[in-house]
Amino acid sequence: MNKFKSVAAWLTFPVILTGQIVAFEHSLSLGFDPALTLLANTVANVALIALLELWLPDRPEWRWTRDGQVVNDAVHGIGTAFGENLGRSALLIFFAVIGGKLAAQGNLELWPTDWPLWGQVLLAVAVVDFCDYWKHRTYHAWSFAWPIHALHHNMDRMHVFKGARLHFLEATIRSLVVYGPLAALGASAEVLLWIAALMNFGGNLNHSNLMQKLPRFVHAMFPTQKAHWLHHNKDYSRGACNFAPLTMLFDHMFGTFRHPLDEPLHEVGIVPDPIPSNIPAQLASPFLWPLLMWRNTRRRSVEENS
Ligand SMILES: [Zn+2]
Ligand SMILES: [Zn+2]
Repeated sequence: MNKFKSVAAWLTFPVILTGQIVAFEHSLSLGFDPALTLLANTVANVALIALLELWLPDRPEWRWTRDGQVVNDAVHGIGTAFGENLGRSALLIFFAVIGGKLAAQGNLELWPTDWPLWGQVLLAVAVVDFCDYWKHRTYHAWSFAWPIHALHHNMDRMHVFKGARLHFLEATIRSLVVYGPLAALGASAEVLLWIAALMNFGGNLNHSNLMQKLPRFVHAMFPTQKAHWLHHNKDYSRGACNFAPLTMLFDHMFGTFRHPLDEPLHEVGIVPDPIPSNIPAQLASPFLWPLLMWRNTRRRSVEENS
């Protein structure tokens, strides 16, 4: 690798993340609809990382241009956006219905609204990380919940378009789990918007195949690309780790942190993998899971006997 690329690899994570946060703050100040502003910033973030991945890939064999699933990733990405909106709408209805029973505002009014915005966002990061950590760990630990999350692990490579490859049902549940507790506590729409932005920008970077060199301690603090790639490890005896979306705090606290520089990653994916490659079947997969598993087992036994 030439010297310019090796310096660039050290700059990708800090420059793209801080640059995107500054750009988002600036674009919010322009006064457009906040949800549309977030969508535009997220799409621009994906496009930038996708282009840079072509120039500076971590694993050239994982290029998204050679991935037969990239169109599916994009479709599931749109489904994820719809699913999240569905979850948020359900929350709005929920709070409208019970408003006045919890408190006059429809929330518990426990949120420190007098704190500066950055302080409120930091507190929200802790709340979201705790809730999302246990939701994510549940998907991996309980076999009845796994079919909802399996599509996110049904991949043979990592790149930026994998970040939003979620089943729309998972996106809806994530929206409820992430935003429900914050809304119930009384966090403002602005705080919720910043959490959504951090989840999107962080998720784009840590699923991407863009080379990101970082000091060792950063992997222990944040779900970096290498830390999250390890979560996608095909070998589950080592893969069930690094669950939280924004910091490594609860992975350290509950004993699931694994340092990616200490463990080699050979392949990503799942075993067994019964999910078909076409979009309609992928969308139906959580509902048809026993059938798909039966089909997969039968196919494997036919292969072994032939
Ligand atoms: Zn997972
Ligand atoms: Zn992931």
